[in-house]
Amino acid sequence: MKKKLEVILFRLLSRHSFVSDHEKSLYLILFAACTYAVSMNFILMLFHLVINVTPLFLISLTGFLSNMLGFWLVERGRYLPVGLLISGTVIIHALASAICIGTKNLVIVYLLTTLVMQFIIPYATFRIRTLVTAALWASMIALVFIGHHMTPLRDIGDAYGALAMFNIHLAFFGIGIQLTIGNTIWDAIIRFNHEALEKSKSEANTDPLTGLFNRRYADFFFNKLTAGQLEQVWCVAMLDIDDFKMLNDAYGHLIGDDVLMFISDFIRTNLRRTDLVFRWGGEEFLILLKDADVSNAFRILDKLRYKLASENIETHDIILNVTVTIGVCPLDIYNVEKSIDTCDRLMYEGKDLGKNIVVM
Ligand code: GH3
Ligand code: MG
Ligand code: MG
Repeated sequence: MKKKLEVILFRLLSRHSFVSDHEKSLYLILFAACTYAVSMNFILMLFHLVINVTPLFLISLTGFLSNMLGFWLVERGRYLPVGLLISGTVIIHALASAICIGTKNLVIVYLLTTLVMQFIIPYATFRIRTLVTAALWASMIALVFIGHHMTPLRDIGDAYGALAMFNIHLAFFGIGIQLTIGNTIWDAIIRFNHEALEKSKSEANTDPLTGLFNRRYADFFFNKLTAGQLEQVWCVAMLDIDDFKMLNDAYGHLIGDDVLMFISDFIRTNLRRTDLVFRWGGEEFLILLKDADVSNAFRILDKLRYKLASENIETHDIILNVTVTIGVCPLDIYNVEKSIDTCDRLMYEGKDLGKNIVVM
């Protein structure tokens, strides 16, 4: 249940950009308040229809529609009118109900629920909420007065009990939600912010075309490695696509991009989960193989090279065969740059040897 609620809150939060966490919380709590007000008016509308009190039916209908308008206002960040709208419709409803059918239905409890709202939901300045509080207080006095000095227009007989029961529970529920939802909302906001941060971090660390790690992340990773914070034994390899310029020239850049994406996926899925792949440059990839000596790394990469060479890459009704040349050597974690230079040089040796080869 809590998980489901969080999914809903996350979806709501990701619809807008907010200036502060305070605004996020206000948006969510007013969204909840509108949901409550709309449902309450809807149920009362049906009730008044069944007991056939037309004026109250019309007032509930107006309340229902105007609180629907509340959603529209919340979406536009107009929090003050939403708060006033909800409070105003409750006051009108309570007074109209007292005049039409009297106060035996305990409609006063909704004024209490709305009073709690003035203290808990900071939809307006302190001054405005104090004024609304005063209006609620005056309405309560008016209800007592109406109850004692006016004969209701209609007597709804047995329905009073049911309506009072209904009103008490709904008001109870409304106060309960207001007092408890704050924590849930703040938990959700904290988690939402955390996830947004992680996402932006991961976007900053990956190459948009291939989804592989970028050089920025490689720098971060090598720094951690040198600082001794990670596993120490790695082999490093430079992989370069053969004759990629020719492929681009023959089929165009878009097909070239498709091939880059295919090869990136191919490398990632054909290596072990512990290995890392970075897009190093245009058609060059840096690979880190964990816990492998160089002959082991050679075997893994030669298998990858062979498998890729026999793969038919299908894109836009064209079938292509693409090969890669790879240089691989052990990674000296205290001299990462030199190790990368070495595997780069070995890769170029492979190009000179006729390409589609792994050199160690
Ligand atoms: P070699 O076998 O010696 O590696 O030859 P090559 O043609 O692969 O190497 P070269 O360095 O001459 O050309 C690399 C080409 O990669 C040139 C450039 O147009 C292409 N390239 C680089 N980045 C991208 C990219 O993001 N998308 C596409 N489609 N092409 C790219
Ligand atoms: Mg190339
Ligand atoms: Mg190249």
